Amino acid sequence: MEDSLAAGSIAPSLLAWYDSHARALPWRELPGSGRRADPYRVWLSEVMLQQTTVAAVTPRFVRFLERWPGIAALAAAPEAEVMAEWAGLGYYARARNLLACAREVASRGGFPATEAELRALPGIGAYTAAAIAAIAFGERAVVVDANVERVVARLFAIDTPLPQARPAIRAAADRITPAERAGDFAQAMMDLGATICVPRRPECSACPIARPCRARAAGRQAELPVRPVKRVRPLRRGTAWWIERDDHVLTVTRPGRGMLAGMRALPDDGWSARGDGSGAPPFAAEWRAIGKVAHAFTHFALELTIRKPLGPIPHTLPEGEWIAREALAKAGLPTLFAKAVLQAMASADASEDAAAQHQADDRDDEHDEAEIAPRVGSRQRAEPDADERDRQDEPVAPAKERDGRGDRQEQRDQADEDREKIEHGVLYR
Ligand code: SF4
Repeated sequence: MEDSLAAGSIAPSLLAWYDSHARALPWRELPGSGRRADPYRVWLSEVMLQQTTVAAVTPRFVRFLERWPGIAALAAAPEAEVMAEWAGLGYYARARNLLACAREVASRGGFPATEAELRALPGIGAYTAAAIAAIAFGERAVVVDANVERVVARLFAIDTPLPQARPAIRAAADRITPAERAGDFAQAMMDLGATICVPRRPECSACPIARPCRARAAGRQAELPVRPVKRVRPLRRGTAWWIERDDHVLTVTRPGRGMLAGMRALPDDGWSARGDGSGAPPFAAEWRAIGKVAHAFTHFALELTIRKPLGPIPHTLPEGEWIAREALAKAGLPTLFAKAVLQAMASADASEDAAAQHQADDRDDEHDEAEIAPRVGSRQRAEPDADERDRQDEPVAPAKERDGRGDRQEQRDQADEDREKIEHGVLYR
């Protein structure tokens, strides 16, 4: 068994499989093309793919590239535009680091070619540096994302629970990474994990490395890697203020540090990962609850109540930007606030429908049945709104985890991101 997993025993079979089965992805150069992948594309895709699916990222990547086709174009972009384009991809600190990195790379005339130099750039952690070095520059680097982690844990039957198993997994991955074609090897491992060695029911009969796989030999594929016990997330409560005047809604830019830093949002009461919101409303009024949304962040769950004032809106208000109701869906709001907006608008629409219904009821007392039809039509319009909400939510909805567990995409507290230096090798594609 030891010999079957010796250095150099895995790469030939895996690379041969990759040569004929590589997924065509917009940031990738397929084997045999004779070209090396563009570091800008590799870097951008890797940042976008952190805890997000390939399916969710692909159209966003293409759009991003149309807008900023190279590092110089991105470096010159205003931060607000990049943040708005990033909306819905989560981990907003990444968007800020993306821009900082683009500016640094543009100022030095291009990406450095070694893992060590890449690692020193803003927002580039160990995983991304290894991926760019291997895929775009052909350096032998050990690239371990969640797919690779799963394949290696099974291949070597590593049964230490995650995350404690990571050093052993990395050492094992290092052992089988070849000196040549390290980039293709990394991508082959990613593709194997995404298409064959999937979390549930891996297709071992189609696997190019089934013969040396220890988990397959022992029939333990389903139980590896050993997952950590799920933590219970604390519940935080907060309030968002829905302030509307002349069909325009007040939005603010969130502070530069903390949750969803720098993003456009509804004004709120200062909720955070560490506690419920307690801030006062922007002005004195009777604030009526018009809806509630639940959102899961990595380290806590948030229940956000949306409240609107009864009565007139004063002229002196917190600084912000008034956005037309119909433009809010494309205003680059992060997912939490996009959900809150949809909820508030559905509530407002429902109120209008109810008011219209009420007026129609009054009229019905006076008119004959033939006039009821338009009112019924109006009532029916309210039902498709729910579907409409779902569709509208798609572009900004959190993506599912890449390993198919189906959890909602989670965004992290800026402080958590800082603590974990944004990436920690747990990546899903
Ligand atoms: S044989 Fe099965 S468990 Fe082992 S690496 Fe291949 S797909 Fe994964």
